[in-house]
Amino acid sequence: MKKQFDENICTQIEKKTGKSSYPVSPEIVQTSSFYFPNYEDFIAISEDEKNNFVYTRGTNPTTHLLEKQLAELERGEKCKVFSSGMGAITATLFTLLKKGDHLLTVNTIYGEALKFSNYMEKYGVKTTNIHLKEGESLESYIQENTRIIYFESPSSQVYELLDLEKIASIAKEKNIYTVIDNTWASPLLQHALDYGIDLVIHSCSKYIGGHSDLVAGAVIGKEHLVDEIFEYGHQILGAVNSPFNSWLAIRGLRTLPIRIKQANESIQFVLDGIKDDARISRIFHPYLAEGEQKELADKYLTGYGSLFSLQLADPDTDKMIQFVNALKVITVGVSWGGFESLALPVFKGSNAESVLNRGLSLVHVRIYVGLEHPETILNDIKQALDLTYGNGKQ
Ligand SMILES: *Cc1c(COP(=O)(O)O)cnc(C)c1O
Repeated sequence: MKKQFDENICTQIEKKTGKSSYPVSPEIVQTSSFYFPNYEDFIAISEDEKNNFVYTRGTNPTTHLLEKQLAELERGEKCKVFSSGMGAITATLFTLLKKGDHLLTVNTIYGEALKFSNYMEKYGVKTTNIHLKEGESLESYIQENTRIIYFESPSSQVYELLDLEKIASIAKEKNIYTVIDNTWASPLLQHALDYGIDLVIHSCSKYIGGHSDLVAGAVIGKEHLVDEIFEYGHQILGAVNSPFNSWLAIRGLRTLPIRIKQANESIQFVLDGIKDDARISRIFHPYLAEGEQKELADKYLTGYGSLFSLQLADPDTDKMIQFVNALKVITVGVSWGGFESLALPVFKGSNAESVLNRGLSLVHVRIYVGLEHPETILNDIKQALDLTYGNGKQ
């Protein structure tokens, strides 16, 4: 197989000829509509709207450029970009599911994705959300009418991995689509399509954008599937990315390889610094995985994303709040994948039941390790632990 250097995909410039100037940064084609020299051209071109520029709710040259890069990075045939990760997720499920189908979601998935899955019940789609135990196969959860297996690996909040190859082969045998949300790993650290997974979804709002200034999403896979999602989920539901946001995402991609390299280094440094700290009872991240989880991490990940969670040893939620407020460099906030480190406690005062139902503890805090110096981030966590729980070392 030809060796693929992802750096080149991210940095390549689309070379053109016959123009009056050649900007290194691509143009933002900020137009809603495209005109045609005559009626015949209009008819010929608009017959295949998914491959031609007719109206920006369908395709747009700037968005198309982003789609080509994302498809190449994920090693898929085609990509469709949306105005959010949720736009990509809902369009995909909306398109591929019908009344009477069963949707199987595995392990902890993104909260809103689970909410949408359950919401589909009113359209006659039944969802089961299962939590696979170590060594357990998901085969026993598959029903006659299972249409899609939807999952994240590593999964939201606890970063558990699944055996992609195994899931793909079980699903193929039964004609079930497999869809992975690969946001955690970015398109660089895990290539699910290589293992037979049908569709890969990304929230481009995270690592791909990389600068905390855009919201977008993408789905990548076989051309016929992406075309179908384009025709229904994208064209009808209308979660269309603006040309400017696509341009921002292309700008983000330029530095994705070096940002991910840094993420991989920084997360290991930070986790090495806190993994034996007695004030933390558990750390959730594939770098610290053991047994079967470690084998899966070694098999599928070519590096580590820098989003992890920790569970504080002291179950007191007031103390947890004190700890989060004591962080000076790491900011409290949602989202991740940008330049700045962020902390997000799952307990928001009134959602105890849903936190516990997700199998999480009330003192579970998600932390995103950003691009600050890793020592600064580690020291920030340590000083906040000292301030809150005293430095009664392990
Ligand atoms: C953020 C996120 C989403 C949702 O993406 P948006 O762009 O915010 O709509 C979905 N899945 C994962 C894993 C995410 O982190």
